[in-house]
Amino acid sequence: MTIANEVARRRTFAIISHPDAGKTTLTEKLLLFAGAIQIAGSVKARKASRHASSDWMEIEKQRGISVASSVMQMEYRDCVINLLDTPGHQDFSEDTYRVLTAVDAALMVLDAANGVEPQTIRLLQVCRARNTPIITFVNKFDREVQEPLDLLSEIESHLGMDTAPLSWPVGMGRSFGGVFDLRRNRMRVFKAGQERRGGDDEMIDGLDNPVIAERFGDAFAKASEEIELIQEASPAFDRQAFLEGRQTPVFFGSAINNFGVQEVLDALVDFAPPPGPREALQRQVQPEESKFSGVVFKVQANMDPAHRDRVAFVRVSSGRFERGMRLKVARTGKEIRPNNVVSFLSQRRELVDEAYAGDVIGIPNHGVLHLGDVLTEGEALQFTGLPFFAPELFQAVEVKDPLRIKQLRTGLTQLGEEGAIQVFRPEAAGGALLLGAVGQLQFEVVAHRLKTEYGVDARMMPSRYNMARWITADDPKELRKFMQANAANIAYDVVDAVAFLAGSPAQLRVAQELYPAIQFHAMREHG
Ligand code: GDP
Repeated sequence: MTIANEVARRRTFAIISHPDAGKTTLTEKLLLFAGAIQIAGSVKARKASRHASSDWMEIEKQRGISVASSVMQMEYRDCVINLLDTPGHQDFSEDTYRVLTAVDAALMVLDAANGVEPQTIRLLQVCRARNTPIITFVNKFDREVQEPLDLLSEIESHLGMDTAPLSWPVGMGRSFGGVFDLRRNRMRVFKAGQERRGGDDEMIDGLDNPVIAERFGDAFAKASEEIELIQEASPAFDRQAFLEGRQTPVFFGSAINNFGVQEVLDALVDFAPPPGPREALQRQVQPEESKFSGVVFKVQANMDPAHRDRVAFVRVSSGRFERGMRLKVARTGKEIRPNNVVSFLSQRRELVDEAYAGDVIGIPNHGVLHLGDVLTEGEALQFTGLPFFAPELFQAVEVKDPLRIKQLRTGLTQLGEEGAIQVFRPEAAGGALLLGAVGQLQFEVVAHRLKTEYGVDARMMPSRYNMARWITADDPKELRKFMQANAANIAYDVVDAVAFLAGSPAQLRVAQELYPAIQFHAMREHG
């Protein structure tokens, strides 16, 4: 097959949801329907520990497991589907945002009883900013939930985009009869509790079929009225609008009962886009170009603390990756020749022989690969768009044993490169290093890892800062002036980008008013 053919059959997406909406269950069922696993239950195993993820010791244990399960590849209807997992705990949402830069579409799972929940909204904002196409699955219709029409308007107001229901629930909870497939004009009759893929669901054709009306009575009468209403009132599904992030197709079902899952998988194949071009500073990179390129969107430390090896997750942007090929790290010009690169076929870590745009490969390394690094066959490319968010929590860090200051710096640099925490070096002489995070849990994990992986007993202390903004100015003189006048609040991050640290929103506002020539950024893009 040519590279172009391989690209055309790839679909790469992430599932986003608020905890407990059913992401794990749906993931498992998608794998089941694609034939990647025979019996449901294997994804649950990891969920069991993930649920305890407010307990950070558990997170430690999971780091190893999640390397294997954070990317899942499956084949369905001649397509290669890459499903990227997003961390469940909200303290790690920064990681999630970066995962979203590596996908071409997102699948949003909603709990039909709760509608659009807070954590989904933040993730949606990132999708919206990137115009990522979103498919919506409204889950748990086997329960008493919200009215489907209300859910649609809630989705519309939160997403700021139109909805195009492609299926419609007939009843809910006890009276849940099934879903009507609006694309194929037939009803899939609900059957509860299937651990295996049945393939023998009962189908009844036709919205005006008297058999359905008779069998499902009031529930169907209501559904058909609603269907008529939405078909008159809302625009039909428009693939172009979906691809541009202006409309989301909506499916209803019950993941735990395998119900409505097939429709979602088919929609991914039929509607979701294959990998497209990617913007680099130098030029636009086309996925079917013959030369390989890819970007590190996530770095994860391995389980074994003694070895400190890490896996860099690389999303292939173009060309063909072959095992043993020479690659160049664009940032350093260093050559690497990864031999034990792993792919993530049906949740087993397997050695990869080749990979194409949209695929994710894992490259074990000892620190040569950083977040945002670009790998090519030689060309100097820098992709844009990998976001770092201004931390909202700060702590100062010191070592108890001054002789271990070097280990502290090494540890923090490496953890910073991994994206586990942000590290700021104050401009003022003698100031302690500052750690910045978006979630409290990050500090605990970092302290623990400093101890186990670097032998450093770190002391975390309260900091007077709680906001950071990266600063730039069109005129370098203005920037220097600002930095001199605010020296006590200036710090540098791992890539030496300058940031202004403030103790309160008011302090930030004052600085903004006094120095109109300075731009303050809540987000920094790599590069
Ligand atoms: P996650 O936190 O989003 O990954 O959610 P899970 O997949 O772990 O599901 C959360 C809870 O909802 C679990 O107890 C599931 O068994 C349950 N659940 C998932 N799908 C359904 C469904 O279709 N119907 C019902 N009634 N419960 C479901």
